[in-house]
Amino acid sequence: MQTFKRYLAIYNQKRQENDLEGAKEYAQIILQYANKEVQNPNVADVYKSEFVQNAKIVKKFLDDLEKIKNAPAPATKQSASEDASKTDWFAADIPNLSMKDVAGLQEVKDALLVNVFAALSPKYAPIYRKYRKDIGLQILLYGPPGTGKTHLVKCLAGQLGCKIAVVQIKDVMANLVGDGAKVIHAIFEQAKKYDKCIIFFDEIDAIAASREDDESRHTKEQLTTLLTNMDGFTAGTKENQIRIIVAATNRPWILDSAVKRGGRFETQIYIPLPDMEARRKLISIYLGKDESIKDRLDIPCAPDVTIDWVAKKTEGYAGADIKAICKQVINRPLEREVKYFSAHGTTKDDCVTRDDVEEVLRKYINSITDEMLMSFDAYSKNMTLMEYLAHLKK
Ligand code: ADP
Repeated sequence: MQTFKRYLAIYNQKRQENDLEGAKEYAQIILQYANKEVQNPNVADVYKSEFVQNAKIVKKFLDDLEKIKNAPAPATKQSASEDASKTDWFAADIPNLSMKDVAGLQEVKDALLVNVFAALSPKYAPIYRKYRKDIGLQILLYGPPGTGKTHLVKCLAGQLGCKIAVVQIKDVMANLVGDGAKVIHAIFEQAKKYDKCIIFFDEIDAIAASREDDESRHTKEQLTTLLTNMDGFTAGTKENQIRIIVAATNRPWILDSAVKRGGRFETQIYIPLPDMEARRKLISIYLGKDESIKDRLDIPCAPDVTIDWVAKKTEGYAGADIKAICKQVINRPLEREVKYFSAHGTTKDDCVTRDDVEEVLRKYINSITDEMLMSFDAYSKNMTLMEYLAHLKK
């Protein structure tokens, strides 16, 4: 682990120095090292999940590098910025989803009722007139990865009948050096065409990390552009218009304080891991038991493999992990039936058993770590991780 940590430290150092070639070399070493350790039966699960976490981070960096390499270079500075405004950032259709498609998360739904749905409804206007001057429709969603933040925003857009632009921050990052700011500006300009729209910035931390920490001039420029455009955009909202800005982050603690100040992103909502109700819903969707789904495959399960039983077993996993787990579970009887057919030439009735679920869970490496959950808990208590750990020890 010490050697691995040393490699990580060098990788981080190279990233900070913007030495992409050096960072690439160490990312590859880290990836190989992590892969080997994950396969090693003598390595404890807790270390394995740390290897997986870090492997994911460096893999993403390597993938992004590859994309940048393959992206067509802009002919001139002018054509690059023209491209930014020509791209249609808004999906053609309003998502065919509503808040009913969000499993569980009652506290999150309550927060959206107070901060969005009721705030926009004339029925509630007298109450808002009493208590609030401005209705801040700038929302920061934070929480572990895979907990459904992107899905939630699409459901919100569907429910409100809003056009939506889902902006993966990597789209506005470095590949067109200096143009990230132009892209951000272009997105806000396009949004002004619509009476009802939501701009969703995923992984906002990529441009909104503390300006003191990030030395890159371009990142600072992008953040300043984002903040000024946000202010102008929501301030210009007319009656009967809905203009919402949502940003998501898995690392709220690194955000620049300017992002959370002066009427910006004053509404912060924690998106936790799915509770029992949410897990029940997710599992019934992924095992094809949810009757609201058209053309579903009702996966055959042994009588003791109930939705409740699987939901209890998957406590501590994110929605994205539950989806992956269900897929792997379903593959097991499928594989058995295919092998049987290939050996005997006839079919046999098989189904998902408890053993299938338990085997998959035994091998599955949870993308959520205890450290991650503690970091969120510390953030919501307004403490640094160090303060939080000291507080736990008391
Ligand atoms: P995030 O943006 O937080 O990383 P996503 O929105 O990409 O997560 O969710 C990952 C997957 O898990 C999506 O397929 C989404 O549909 C599903 N999911 C996660 N949580 C929920 C939930 N509470 N209700 C419905 N689907 C969910």
